[in-house]
Amino acid sequence: MKNRFCPDCGVDVGEIHNPGCDMETCPECGGQYLGCECRSKLQRLIWTGESRGKLECREFGWYSKMVKGSGWVSCDKNDVGASENLNRLHKDAIWSKDYGRFILQDTDLSKLTKVVKLKHVPVEYQNIDDFSKELIEELEIFVSEYKKKHVTNPQRYKLEYPLISENTWFHVFYRFTLEGEL
Ligand SMILES: [Zn+2]
Ligand SMILES: [Zn+2]
Repeated sequence: MKNRFCPDCGVDVGEIHNPGCDMETCPECGGQYLGCECRSKLQRLIWTGESRGKLECREFGWYSKMVKGSGWVSCDKNDVGASENLNRLHKDAIWSKDYGRFILQDTDLSKLTKVVKLKHVPVEYQNIDDFSKELIEELEIFVSEYKKKHVTNPQRYKLEYPLISENTWFHVFYRFTLEGEL
């Protein structure tokens, strides 16, 4: 069944899931992004309109149903209670990082539906310590540039601002950071 909006985080088809969503697929292993430990640097996978692996199960004709006393057993597509056999998918299919989906050893990709070759845009990570280091460096540059400006134009580049003024230090620094100028 297709869902226009991700049932967990609510994004639309084609969008990247919100942080912490349990429906997102890991581009590295095909498992749940939230639960896996790959910390993949590949481009994150979008919400496609259905749960992980279901499309592939239908393509491969892999279904299972719950049978009393036996648990989930493989079955025919048309059996009562048949649903996509995700256990078999994770056991017998191969995750393709290039296509962001499961394929079979002998899969002819041209015959599958919705095959989109992924652009592997690496995701960059920054940890809090690197962020802090970067910010401190930026701040030191700002202070030294500002003081140079003060020497050339002390009227405009004051070394003090009233706390209630629009020109608070944070504001001036922020503008410097964003626009690169004073
Ligand atoms: Zn989501
Ligand atoms: Zn993973």
